Amino acid sequence: MAKNIKKSKGKKEERVSNIPASNANKAGDGVLIYKEGMTVGEVATGLNAPVAKVVMKLMGLGVMANQNQTVDRETIELLAMEFGYEIKDEVVTDATRFDEFKIEDDEKDLISRPAVVTIMGHVDHGKTTLLDHIRNSRVTAGEAGGITQHIGAYQVEEKGRKITFIDTPGHAAFTEMRARGAQVTDIVVLVVAADDGVMPQTKEAIEHARAAKCPIIVAVNKIDKPTANKARVMEELTHEGIIPSEWGGDTTFVEISALKGLGVDNLLDMINLQAEIMDLKANPNRLATGSVIEAQLDRGKGPVATFIVQNGTLKVGDYVVVGDTYGRVRSMEDDRHVKYNDAEPSMAVQVTGLEEVPFAGDKFMALSDERTARQIADERKTKSKDALNSAVQAVSLEDLFADKDSDKELNLIVKGDVQGSVEALRSSLEQLNVETIKLNLIRCSVGAITDTDVTLAAASRAIIIGFNVRPTAQVRQSAEAQGVEIRLYNIIYKLLEDIEAAMNGLLDPEYEEVVTGQCEIREVFKISKVGSIAGCYVSNGVVQRESLCRVIRDGIVVYEGKLASLRRFKDDVKSVKEGFECGLQIENFNDIKEGDIIETSIMKEIKR
Ligand code: GDP
Repeated sequence: MAKNIKKSKGKKEERVSNIPASNANKAGDGVLIYKEGMTVGEVATGLNAPVAKVVMKLMGLGVMANQNQTVDRETIELLAMEFGYEIKDEVVTDATRFDEFKIEDDEKDLISRPAVVTIMGHVDHGKTTLLDHIRNSRVTAGEAGGITQHIGAYQVEEKGRKITFIDTPGHAAFTEMRARGAQVTDIVVLVVAADDGVMPQTKEAIEHARAAKCPIIVAVNKIDKPTANKARVMEELTHEGIIPSEWGGDTTFVEISALKGLGVDNLLDMINLQAEIMDLKANPNRLATGSVIEAQLDRGKGPVATFIVQNGTLKVGDYVVVGDTYGRVRSMEDDRHVKYNDAEPSMAVQVTGLEEVPFAGDKFMALSDERTARQIADERKTKSKDALNSAVQAVSLEDLFADKDSDKELNLIVKGDVQGSVEALRSSLEQLNVETIKLNLIRCSVGAITDTDVTLAAASRAIIIGFNVRPTAQVRQSAEAQGVEIRLYNIIYKLLEDIEAAMNGLLDPEYEEVVTGQCEIREVFKISKVGSIAGCYVSNGVVQRESLCRVIRDGIVVYEGKLASLRRFKDDVKSVKEGFECGLQIENFNDIKEGDIIETSIMKEIKR
């Protein structure tokens, strides 16, 4: 394979580093660097103005704040305007937060890069057939078609333009990567079988694509089948808000048969057209950054990961930090075992030379020296360990009930047996609306409850909900060890009821006073050491032992307090009804008189 190695041009290192200069936040003339949680004092310093003047201006804007108080961004923007300043966001310069770096290239350094495409759609609608057909019928020019390996992505060339397809099956992978901050897809191809129409996973795919703000191209597949009905697919997708361009909307529909290869050229043309509209660009002359699509431990090669280069050029010999680990790129090859020395933007390559196996969705960044790479990885590892340790606190629905001061968020991981029930749960849970509590569905997917779920739950203080699925004994143990609660259900409404109750419990309870009854004092018995006992007649409602009470004399409330005792004859009782007599005492109050009215009430929690 050595002759296949693509030689780098032997230029001397010209690639720019991705770590922003430490002076990136130096404010120039008339520029205020905005950081979250800025105090008035800090804003004043940034604006080069006396605090008093800033406080005055704030008053003018109707905001009363002293120099140690924080102000929101909008207010700071107004202030900056008043002082003739422009505001700029703080640039993250801390290399241990490299995954938050925002890289901005000069327009002149940018060149077009291939589109990165993910194929999504309902099961059996033909995603795999389409991916295989595209791969097998188009080989990047000049390369022999070797035996392919599964590396999670491949690149093809169509009419001189390259396209990268991500081959990770399933929407869960797509969402999970996004959840981890790795937005790698530019365009989503939504495969819909013309003989089946819009199905639950079709809708799910649309949601995911929308959430990722990816344009969708619809591939109406299986058009070779006699039962194919393109019009029906178009019609059904309209209900999902996807309007075909031929009906005046903005979504391209292409008819294909992935099995027979019909219309696939046209689909690729449409992808290229969309890519052109999107004007996708990158700067090949910087050290690479990108994301991990897949990773595993290979018995022969050690940790291997498929990287998608999103900006810059990755070279063999580069040092990289990736997730919480690091390494030096030893080799790079594509899905056909073609080896590369350089991987340019939008290329997907399997990389060897890492110290440990990273996770799908981890970001990577190339660096010019090993020491920095190792340092960053070490620091990140320590940070994640700390975060995990502090997150391992017992979480259970009851805890949340009790913990009124918790941060008003309920994190859930939902696992269900079939797509249908998971979808139903997702939408029902999303509709649960309890004022100030935020319900976060961290993961909502089909499948058994696994160790990964437990780890994620521990890290995010989430509760795991299993619907018609059960954890293995080993997973159960690990959940116990990490203090993660797993709740199992087989009835949707029961599950919803419990969650809603927990959410209600999370709210600070609100009470209102409810008057329960009234009684008249007919006689007062003064007993030494015990105090005054009122002999009463309950004139309406019911008098309860655990009551608040008001003593009313001639229409005026003379005392408010609590009952100390309630008796009928010699017995302590819980309540006495209208029309009966009783004896009672009032806590810390003996100055009762015949003819006084005692009104009793209880504090009742209001259901929201
Ligand atoms: P996936 O679950 O979306 O990946 O679907 P597959 O690619 O596995 O396809 C499911 C079934 O549909 C397979 O039996 C395919 O052979 C068949 N299939 C896929 N595309 C076409 C097509 O264009 N025409 C016909 N007739 N069958 C197709």
